[in-house]
Amino acid sequence: MSQTTTHTAGGHSAEARFDAIVIGAGFGGIYTVHKLRNELGLRVRCFEKGDGVGGTWHWNRYPGAMSDTESLVYRYSFDRELAQEVAWNRRYIPQRDILGYLQTVVDRYDLGKDIQLNTAVEAAVYNEEANLWTVTTDGGESFTARYLLTALGPLSAANFPDIKGRDTFRGRLVHTGSWPDDLSIEGKRVGLIGTGSTGTQFVCAASKVAEHLTVFQRTPQYNVPSGNAPVSPEYLAEYRANYDEIWRQVRLSRVACGFEESDVPAMSVSEEERRRVFQENWDKGNGFRFMFGTFSDIATDPAANEAAAEFIRSKIKEIVRDPETARKLSPTDPYAKRPICNEDYYESFNRDNVTLVSIKENPIREITPTGVITEDGVEHPLDVLVFATGFDAVDGSYKRMDIRGRGGVSMNEHWSDGPTSYLGLAVTGFPNMFMVLGPNSVFSNLPPAIETQVEWLTELIGAAEATGRRSVEAVKAAEETWTVTCQQSADFTLFPKVDSWIFGANIPGKKNRAMFYFGGLRSYREKLDAVVTGGYEGFTM
Ligand code: FAD
Ligand code: NAP
Repeated sequence: MSQTTTHTAGGHSAEARFDAIVIGAGFGGIYTVHKLRNELGLRVRCFEKGDGVGGTWHWNRYPGAMSDTESLVYRYSFDRELAQEVAWNRRYIPQRDILGYLQTVVDRYDLGKDIQLNTAVEAAVYNEEANLWTVTTDGGESFTARYLLTALGPLSAANFPDIKGRDTFRGRLVHTGSWPDDLSIEGKRVGLIGTGSTGTQFVCAASKVAEHLTVFQRTPQYNVPSGNAPVSPEYLAEYRANYDEIWRQVRLSRVACGFEESDVPAMSVSEEERRRVFQENWDKGNGFRFMFGTFSDIATDPAANEAAAEFIRSKIKEIVRDPETARKLSPTDPYAKRPICNEDYYESFNRDNVTLVSIKENPIREITPTGVITEDGVEHPLDVLVFATGFDAVDGSYKRMDIRGRGGVSMNEHWSDGPTSYLGLAVTGFPNMFMVLGPNSVFSNLPPAIETQVEWLTELIGAAEATGRRSVEAVKAAEETWTVTCQQSADFTLFPKVDSWIFGANIPGKKNRAMFYFGGLRSYREKLDAVVTGGYEGFTM
């Protein structure tokens, strides 16, 4: 081990050489540090570019930010004692409480001393001879490690479109993914661009406090109620009593959201029964439940999908008083993006202080120092302009780093046709580098997917350490096969029929291809088990 000691941006007194370097301190990175350091006994250093841990929940502090998969399964399962202590008393958790929870986990396992904050990793280069990764930070420091674990986040590189005049705006212009703590929208004239999960959450919160909210919508999406409400003490007691069974069900399900997925095809029942089931689930609330808990084929069969879509459109008509606003809010595409749910999205448009502008019909001509001008010549005066325009998802944070594997080949070169991986975890030519939620990981509620991957990688690294293997690398054919499997799993659904970040279609010029495995968490876990049983099939060790 090197004796070099350096002082770092995070104030750590750091050894320059580690067994493992982890990048990112969200759900993925935090758990990785815990497993590798506290269970495998490795010397680990984690680098995080933010000034706090929490990842998504550190950055996304916009009004209304909260989970939309349910609180009792939007967390780690590994710490059952903590689950007995932490009482989340609502069905969904606000951003600050998720952040507080992640900070508690970091403190509880004494992880903070090995997490170096305010440190962006700019490059990671593999040295084949030494079998070491050298990581260089924005502070100009270098560190080496045998293992590199990237937990950069699938939704952490902001998409901040350069709309004409953007930089001339003299009010506050912000992206929801880096919401400043000192910005209050109370009593302000607020403009919002973007109506995905983020934008719609923002509408629900901002409409209640802004003087006026102007929503610039490009493509309407299907929203269902979240059913947010307090969680009763009895429900919580039941959760604690049945903890193992609940998490077992999550791991054996497809989208890992804690409800039973339907196995009834929508068209196998009468129209009346379909409406009854849709209504029942509308009343229960939750987007994933509406898409996967009503019928088995909403995401796969065009007729079933249209039935669900039509049901939601009928609700929009019922809820939104102004018919023209209701028309603009009604999607016509298939219902095939990551499902959205909110407390009172459509109701927000009945408020006098909320205006909807369809920028498909009436595009933004320009952002000016004082607001936004649309093609019809109307100027919308604004104090705050919010970009809820999403992320360069999945590989976005990878592309922003210089990662070089065997022979100096960069990840960007390897991914020039779009991001690929073996199992979402490893890439050919990048030995001993492992990703958490890398491209082609499983499409589901994400904490259980993260736990699955981190636990599996810990076993893999443990096995490599125990047997003295110098390096572990994905085999090219295995990566190619997994890429095809993921594309096929996507093609089996209707998701490729609409443009969304899930396929990279939200970023101009980005290759449109599957970036997730759509076979579900259960099947993904079975695949991982089979790889181990096959002697780490698809890896060279
Ligand atoms: P992140 O939490 O994104 O953490 C990655 C970290 O890596 C970041 O802190 C980033 O700063 C850091 N990083 C990146 N590049 C570098 C670098 N070069 N150097 C140093 N650090 C770097 N998923 C669900 O399943 N359910 C939900 O309800 C849900 N709600 C969401 C709400 C919002 C607003 C958003 C944006 C996402 C939501 N997601 C949800 C997805 C969410 O991202 C995941 O659930 C989970 O938090 C991902 O954890 P992670 O550790 O993989 O990534
Ligand atoms: P998103 O789903 O990609 O939505 C971005 C929005 O911005 C879309 O309405 C998009 O319109 C619009 N947009 C993008 N570029 C634009 C441009 N140049 N001009 C005008 N409009 C533009 O991003 P997101 O809402 O941040 O959500 C991303 C994912 O994060 C979600 O799917 C979810 O997985 C997660 N998330 C979850 C929650 C939650 O509820 N817990 C909250 C936030 C995020 P088009 O559709 O026309 O492209």
